[in-house]
Amino acid sequence: MSKLLVIAFDATDAATSFGFAHALGLPFDVLQLTGLSVPSGAGTVTLANLGSIPPADGLAKALQPLVAGYSHIASPSSMGSKDVLAYLAGLLDTGMVTDAIGVVSPTEFKRPIYAGAMTATIKVNCDPIIITFRPGNFGKDAASANGNESTTSLNVTSQATILSESSKGSARPDLSQAAIVVSGGRPLKDAATFESVIGGFADALGAAVGATRAAVDAGIAANDLQVGQTGKVVAPNLYIAAGISGSTQHMAGIKDSKLIVAINTDTNAPIFDAADLGLVGDLFTVLPELQRELKQ
Ligand SMILES: Cc1cc2nc3c(=O)[nH]c(=O)nc-3n(C[C@H](O)[C@H](O)[C@H](O)COP(=O)(O)OP(=O)(O)OC[C@H]3O[C@@H](n4cnc5c(N)ncnc54)[C@H](O)[C@@H]3O)c2cc1C
Repeated sequence: MSKLLVIAFDATDAATSFGFAHALGLPFDVLQLTGLSVPSGAGTVTLANLGSIPPADGLAKALQPLVAGYSHIASPSSMGSKDVLAYLAGLLDTGMVTDAIGVVSPTEFKRPIYAGAMTATIKVNCDPIIITFRPGNFGKDAASANGNESTTSLNVTSQATILSESSKGSARPDLSQAAIVVSGGRPLKDAATFESVIGGFADALGAAVGATRAAVDAGIAANDLQVGQTGKVVAPNLYIAAGISGSTQHMAGIKDSKLIVAINTDTNAPIFDAADLGLVGDLFTVLPELQRELKQ
C-alpha cells in the first residue's frame, strides 16, 4: 500500500507537512527528530527526541531501517533536509525530487528550474520516492489531531563530529517561516548600518531580516540571512526589499511572497517589474521615516 513518511526535523516541520500530505493524497506518518509532538494530522507520530540534528551521513544510516515499507519519504525543503535525504536516497539506491512545489499525481511533481524562471513537471519511476517540498506552496490547511504517538531511539554513528554549535539567539522570527520579511542589499555599506537601518525597521514591524548575496559577500549581513537561489526561499505575506536590484537569483527566493514592496533609487531597477508596490527613493530616508510613522 502506498504510504508517506514525513521526516520532520522539528515541530515546525511536522506542523507544516499537512498541506503536502493532503496534496499527495496518501495516508501519512511523521517521524519527528527533535522537539515535542504537535497536531499535523498524521496517523502515527514517532518522536526520536534528538537533542540536535547529527551529521547527514550518520543520520541517514540511522533512518534507513525506519523508512522501510513507505512508498514516499518526504521533508520540508531546507539545506539540512536536502543533505540528509540525498544520503538516504543514495543508501536506498532510489531517486529524489527536491523543492517540489506541486503534486500532479503520486509519481509526478512540479519543481522550479532555471532559478525559478520555469516550472518542470517530472515523473519519477522509483520506489520509494524521496521528496523535499516547499511547505509555502501547499496551503495552510488546518492540521487535525494525530493518531498514535510513539518514541524511538536512533543509533547515529557518523564519520564527522560536530565539535560545537553556536546560535546568535535572535529574538526575530525565523526567516523561512516569517509573515513579514525586510531585506537589504549592497547599499547598506557595513554590518552596523545594516543592523540599525534594516534590523531596526524589521523590529518595528515584528519582521524577520533577510539580505542579498551581495550584502552577505561584502560582510554587511550574516550568511544565514541570504535569500535567493543559493540562500533561503521565503514566502511571506509581505516582503520589503530595500536597496535590492532584483537579480534573477534573488527573485528565485522571493517570488512566492504575497506582496512585494521595493524601495530603490533607480526607477529602472528590475525589482520594480516584480514588485506590487514600488517606492522610488533613498532607503536611508524612507525607512527611518516609515519607522517613525509606525511608532506613532
Ligand atoms: C550562481 C549565483 C548564485 C547567486 N545566488 C544569489 C542568491 O541566492 N541571492 C542573491 O541575492 N543573489 C545571488 N546571486 C547574486 C546576484 O546575481 C546579484 O549580484 C545580487 O543579488 C545583487 O545584490 P544587490 O541587489 O544587493 O546589489 P546590486 O545589484 O548592486 O543592487 C543594489 C541596488 O540598490 C539600489 N540602491 C543604491 N543605493 C540606494 C539607496 N540609498 N536607497 C535605495 N536603493 C539604493 C541600486 O539602484 C541597485 O538597484 C547569485 C549569483 C550567482 C552567479
